[in-house]
Order: sequence, then C-alpha cells, then structure tokens
Amino acid sequence: MNNVTPITSGSGGVLSGRVALVTGAGSGIGRACAIGLAEAGAEVHAVDRDSGTAHAVAALIGGKAHVTDLAAPDATARLPTEVDILVNNAGFQHVAPITDFPAARFEAMQRVMVTAPFLLMQHCLPHMYDRGWGRIVNVSSVHGLRASAAKAGYVAAKHALEGLSKVAAIEGAPHGVTSNCVNPGYVRTPLVERQLDDLAEAGRARDDALANVLLQRTPLKRLVEPEEVAAAVLWLCRPEARSMTGSSLTIDGGWTAN
Ligand code: NAD
Repeated sequence: MNNVTPITSGSGGVLSGRVALVTGAGSGIGRACAIGLAEAGAEVHAVDRDSGTAHAVAALIGGKAHVTDLAAPDATARLPTEVDILVNNAGFQHVAPITDFPAARFEAMQRVMVTAPFLLMQHCLPHMYDRGWGRIVNVSSVHGLRASAAKAGYVAAKHALEGLSKVAAIEGAPHGVTSNCVNPGYVRTPLVERQLDDLAEAGRARDDALANVLLQRTPLKRLVEPEEVAAAVLWLCRPEARSMTGSSLTIDGGWTAN
C-alpha cells in the first residue's frame, strides 16, 4: 500500500483532539483502523510486535509506533496511558483439535487476546474517567459468539473478550466511557488470502474455494474488507453511537444468522 497518500493526523475531523491506541496496527484490520482514526482527526499510537509494519503505518498517518509483543507480561506497561480511544485488535489463530492443541499456544492466545486488553483497560481507563469520555472497541469475531471445531484457543479467548467488554461497559457508563465488540466474519487479510492460496494449490479454483469452502456457511459470498470493519470501529467512536455500549456488532455476511 505504498501508493497511499500520507495522512496528517489531528486535522479537524470528528475525532480531532482525541488520542487513539490500536494494537496489531501493522496489518489487516488494525492497520485499517489506525488509518481511519487518523483520517477522522485522532492522534494514533500504532502498537505491533512487527517493527517494520508498525513504523510503516505510523509514518503513513503521522502517528507514533510502539514495537512490543503483547504476549510479554510487562508489554503494556511501556505504552501511553493518556488514551481516549482504545482499540484492542491484535490477535492470531491456531487450528487444532483440543486433543492436539499445544497448551503453550493456548495460553499465548489468552495473553494476547484477553490479558493484554484487560491490562490496557487498567492502563487507560483512569485517563478516560478523568476526562469523562472514552471509547473501548474490542475486535472480537463471530467466534466470540459461536464456536467451531479445532479453534479452542481462539473461541475461548474471543468469548472471554466479549465478557470483559461487557464489564468495561457497565463500569465505564457513569464515566462517559463505552465499550463494545465488533464481530467480523471472514475478512480479506493476509491470513485469509494464505488459506485461499493453500486451497488453490490443493487443486480448487479460488472462486470455488471462497464460495464453497471458506464462505460455505456465509449467505453473502464475499469477504469482508478490513476498511468495512474499521468503519464500524469508527462509528462506535462517533457521537451518534453514544448510547451503544456492551454490544457486539456482527459484520459477517450473515454467518451468525445462518
Ligand atoms: P493480521 O494478521 O492481518 O494482523 C494482526 C496484527 O496483530 C499483525 O500486525 C501482528 O503482527 C499483530 N500481532 C499479533 N500478535 C501480536 C502480539 N503478540 N503483540 C503485538 N502484536 C501482535 O490479522 P487480522 O485479520 O487483521 O486480525 C486482527 C483481529 O481481527 C484479530 O483479533 C482477529 O482475531 C480478528 N478477526 C479477524 C478475522 C479475519 O477473517 N481476518 C475475522 C474475525 C476477527
């Protein structure tokens, strides 16, 4: 995406004067959120364990990069506390049945997708409470609401994130802080593109693999674009969404309805 015009943050949008922190900002949904928030005027802290992509997105949006592995116990301590908008987005998948699921991998998934969001809330909520305004958006998944085989670590983490988000909503309400989840289905990110490549290598046409393997249960036979998820995240930060809290917003082409 080197052809994107650099954006100057804080340039008078609806989120002008707000400071946002996005985890996993180097790629996919997090990157789209960081760009969208900057376009809306927020100053953005881009957190990622990948130095190259974290710095690239920060340079693109005039934000600040923080290179840190959120699985490490002290990772969140070094991040800024003066944050008005916290987007807990970093995450990863591991596919294996429970009988074969590596325990260390399971624990790492909980650290990145549950403990790090909890620690970041602890870290940033005092500032939000002081200002009487804050937005927490947790990038969950349809797997925060439903289960699938072979995704024990991911489903457990995303269900826990849903519960954490609701507690933050209840505690934050008297302080002007909302907390919500967004719940995407299959999003066009490198991870999903790789799955399509693998299926194509195994002899399936890409269109067929997309419609009949990946999106077999999805009524809308298209991948969600990262920018569509970012648009929902942004809307949750806008004044129009001030009554929305403790909610889970599905963006899944009908997957959970099916
Ligand atoms: P992605 O792999 O494109 O991006 C994830 C980013 O998080 C990467 O830049 C990675 O370096 C970073 N990251 C991962 N572990 C980290 C760690 N320990 N510390 C710091 N950074 C770390 O993935 P994506 O598809 O954009 O996923 C973003 C979020 O959206 C995840 O929470 C994922 O569960 C969720 N989600 C994705 C999909 C999908 O289809 N892609 C669907 C539903 C939910």
